Amino acid sequence: MTDIQKSIHQIQSELEQNVTLVAVSKTKPNEMIVDAYAGGQRHFGENKVQELALKSEELPKDIHWHMIGHLQTNKVKYIAPFVYLIHAVDSLKLLKEINKQAIKNNRVIDCLLQVHIAEEESKFGFDENSIHEAINRGSFENFSNVKIKGLMGMATFTEDDEQVSAEFKGLKKLFDSLKGMKQPGCFELKKLSMGMSGDYKIAVDCGSTMVRIGSTIFGGRNN
Ligand SMILES: *Cc1c(COP(=O)(O)O)cnc(C)c1O
Repeated sequence: MTDIQKSIHQIQSELEQNVTLVAVSKTKPNEMIVDAYAGGQRHFGENKVQELALKSEELPKDIHWHMIGHLQTNKVKYIAPFVYLIHAVDSLKLLKEINKQAIKNNRVIDCLLQVHIAEEESKFGFDENSIHEAINRGSFENFSNVKIKGLMGMATFTEDDEQVSAEFKGLKKLFDSLKGMKQPGCFELKKLSMGMSGDYKIAVDCGSTMVRIGSTIFGGRNN
């Protein structure tokens, strides 16, 4: 086994069967992705549209490509033909555009709603109440070609494991409460995407079903 394959194997051995490992390959060359692919890895995550579109063209067609970063409305069209899951849907405007591009491509695009759970200020993500409010207002009706498969969140960048754990538990609680209520037709809540290299063990303990891990697998990045 190569070093990359060993890292993936190690992480997989720590995860329950029901947790999907998304190998975050952003900034990394195709050779590293091929290496992981040869070891059996099929889910890869990227955070830039251009890089994602290029890699999807150049690499094996049975890779499941996850768009994990902030997505601008005007760039949805570049990934709509092939993207497997969009993790960071942070507005109804973006969801509307994804639906439109999905129709154009005659497919249904799976999405996660990004929820802002960290203490750091961020322009991105729904806050916990706004999803309930939007559901009650009927804002999620009329999306024929998107499926909201779950929620995604990023914890505060801190050494304080208690805080990280509290934030993940908050997201899990929101996930469960949404699952417990009558949902719009485009909802099919199954996935909870939380946990990165530094905090995936905590995330899994808090109920994560999808971890997004980059540097532990592929080594550090400069950006
Ligand atoms: C880069 C990134 C990751 C992976 O980060 P690592 O710390 O390298 O594991 C996960 N999620 C998102 C949204 C990212 O942008």
